[in-house]
Amino acid sequence: MSDQKKAKPIYKRVLLKLSGEALMGHDQFGINRDTLNYMVGEIKSILDIGVQVGIVVGGGNIFRGVALGANGMDRATGDYMGMLATVMNAMALQDALTKTGVPVRIQSALHLEQVVQPYIRGKALRYLDQNRVVIFAAGTGNPFFTTDTTAALRGAEMGAEVVLKATKVDGIYTADPMKDPTATKFADITFDEAMKRDLKVMDGTAFALCRTNDLPIRVFNIFKPGALKRACTGLEEGTLVHS
Ligand code: UDP
Repeated sequence: MSDQKKAKPIYKRVLLKLSGEALMGHDQFGINRDTLNYMVGEIKSILDIGVQVGIVVGGGNIFRGVALGANGMDRATGDYMGMLATVMNAMALQDALTKTGVPVRIQSALHLEQVVQPYIRGKALRYLDQNRVVIFAAGTGNPFFTTDTTAALRGAEMGAEVVLKATKVDGIYTADPMKDPTATKFADITFDEAMKRDLKVMDGTAFALCRTNDLPIRVFNIFKPGALKRACTGLEEGTLVHS
């Protein structure tokens, strides 16, 4: 048996933040089937070791297509469209997870009763206790916020031990590694130090929520196979931002 298979989770409950781009793969917009299936595999790998998983999904992959034709649109209107985009992503993810036998519930911050159930905290907590995946759709339900902030909010509400921020890069660097070859990666960093260095971990509201609620954030590369499981089993992966 490999080390990974024997590995024990270090978390009972996590909040995984998947950006819309994480479902897009190499396409220009929308949902890429192979990428979606890959995400399902990664998520299953942590469910299999007993981690309870809440997911906040973004909408950038779908909203971008809309946004092209929406220049000059009222900001709040655009934001509501963005929130609706996250519902589509949540439904795609639910469909793909369900097909592999994973029980999933979507809860939406906007009321769309014919399609998904509304967000009810107590119910979501119960689902997680029952080892069902809960996907939190429609962001916070408010314009002028982001799905990163939603991840911090739902993470705190669900009593998650960490927000796992899935990105395309393998952590937080001293500088942009694409521009500065001397940039080095932090294995971990405190909220205060990240602030002092003005590192872009999550948007300001999300960062402040995590900091205030002592909710650590792990930034990692979701496209690196096994990275999500490594992050959940205490192996060095990405960057941990903590108090
Ligand atoms: N959004 C919003 N309120 C929220 C969450 C999201 O208005 O609480 C809108 C906002 O327009 C945002 C879009 O939904 O741009 C998609 O979310 P986000 O950009 O966070 O998605 P990601 O970049 O992670 O794909």
